[in-house]
Amino acid sequence: MSEAEQRLAEVRDAVTRAAVTAGRQPAAVNLIAVSKMHPAEAIRLLLTAGQRDFGENRVQEASAKWPELRADYPDIRLHLIGQLQSNKAAEAVALFDAIHSVDRPSLIAALAKAMNETGKRPDCFVQANLEGAEGKGGCAPEDLAATLAAARDAGVPVIGLMCVPPEGLEPAPWFALLAKLADDHGLAHLSMGMSGDYESAVRIGATHVRVGTALFGAR
Ligand SMILES: *Cc1c(COP(=O)(O)O)cnc(C)c1O
Repeated sequence: MSEAEQRLAEVRDAVTRAAVTAGRQPAAVNLIAVSKMHPAEAIRLLLTAGQRDFGENRVQEASAKWPELRADYPDIRLHLIGQLQSNKAAEAVALFDAIHSVDRPSLIAALAKAMNETGKRPDCFVQANLEGAEGKGGCAPEDLAATLAAARDAGVPVIGLMCVPPEGLEPAPWFALLAKLADDHGLAHLSMGMSGDYESAVRIGATHVRVGTALFGAR
């Protein structure tokens, strides 16, 4: 086994164990390999090992790396997991299959315009900023209902919620809060969990985990 295959097998096993522990179907968890700052050669090793969902946090970096990779692997799914400026919404809609960082009405309007013009509608997650930290993406919990309503009115397909818990704190309570908010709003998908905490996220209901370092090594 290559090192990439080994890492992928380990993370998949850990996802499966966490899901089974929680009485969940392992297949209900989508493992997203976060390839930001990693070159195409490293990505190809994971593609060869069978990985198909990938995450990038910047539109510009993704547009430099992914068109060529997608030509070779048309069945990949590319997820935008980083903050998105409204002026990059059209490029993001063209490039990504899912957008995890929808967080404000102005961005929703820009995404709706791009989706209507192209007919392409990537799955969207509304990112919640649960602790109300400044300078971080995500919509405040008290704005969540209005943000979801804006997306619904604009025809932007929101399938779930996403969060990045505050650093240095136990993540499980934040995951549980996100799960509760998604449930309250009738949303089936939860994008939560990174290299350090994805097993906990899966036990609490994550349907999409975003794992970089555990698959690629340090950035
Ligand atoms: C970088 C990043 C990840 C992956 O982080 P790792 O700790 O390397 O697994 C997940 N989610 C978001 C939003 C990120 O920016």
